[in-house]
Formats: sequence, structure tokens, C-alpha cells
Amino acid sequence: MTETDDSFDCDSCGETVPFDEARRTKTVGGLDPTKWQTLCCPSCGSRLKTVFVGE
Ligand SMILES: [Zn+2]
Repeated sequence: MTETDDSFDCDSCGETVPFDEARRTKTVGGLDPTKWQTLCCPSCGSRLKTVFVGE
């Protein structure tokens, strides 16, 4: 897995969350949880993005 400098802006609380600090949760909607994870804001818990983690 490669390093990433990605960060995400939370729409709910305005926080900028670095990829490494985002909370990972299971996806909703039947996506394979070994391949897809949902990143959530560590401050307010809002969903930031669903990312592919299969590799
Ligand atoms: Zn937030």
C-alpha cells in the first residue's frame, strides 16, 4: 500500500481530516468490507468518503 497525503474536508464540522486519522468503518450498501471502507470524521463521526482498500 502506498503512502497518501490525501485529506478530507468534513461537511458537518469543517474539520480537515488527514487520511491516516480518519476513522475506518464498514461500508453500508453491501460492498465487500475487505475491499471497501468508509472513512469517518474523528471529531463528529460524519461520513467523509468510501475508499477502496483491496490492494
Ligand atoms: Zn466532522
